[in-house]
Amino acid sequence: MEGRKVTGWAARDSSGVLSPYSYHLRKIGSEDVLFKVLYCGVDHTDLHQIRNEIHSTTYPLVPGHEVVGKVVEVGSEVKKFGVGDIVGVGCIVGSCGECICCKTNKEQYCTKMVFTYNAIYGDGSFTQGGFSSAMVVHQK
Ligand SMILES: [Zn+2]
Repeated sequence: MEGRKVTGWAARDSSGVLSPYSYHLRKIGSEDVLFKVLYCGVDHTDLHQIRNEIHSTTYPLVPGHEVVGKVVEVGSEVKKFGVGDIVGVGCIVGSCGECICCKTNKEQYCTKMVFTYNAIYGDGSFTQGGFSSAMVVHQK
């Protein structure tokens, strides 16, 4: 399912060069937040992923996992945030939500944990990071 069209800065190969890339965000689910990206850090992991130095990069790759933004839309079941709130996203955007790790707020140990970019989300969509105009993430 495709959502809003956005533009990010993507690596297309291991050269280290990023260029504008348009793609569709996933559709906003009932517990998702759509936010406009205000800032995004540049971490050394981003550089490794851009250059495929970990040998796991799928191109085109929009990096960025230290993201700050402003909420522009929320799903019907979102309780934690409202339009206009400032939100942050780290290196994880998903997990199963049902295992002992998830139920004790240790999602980083979930075997179904989903990285912010260069990963496959639960709905089958490819995750792209914060070097973008907007993102859709679960409220948690
Ligand atoms: Zn889990």
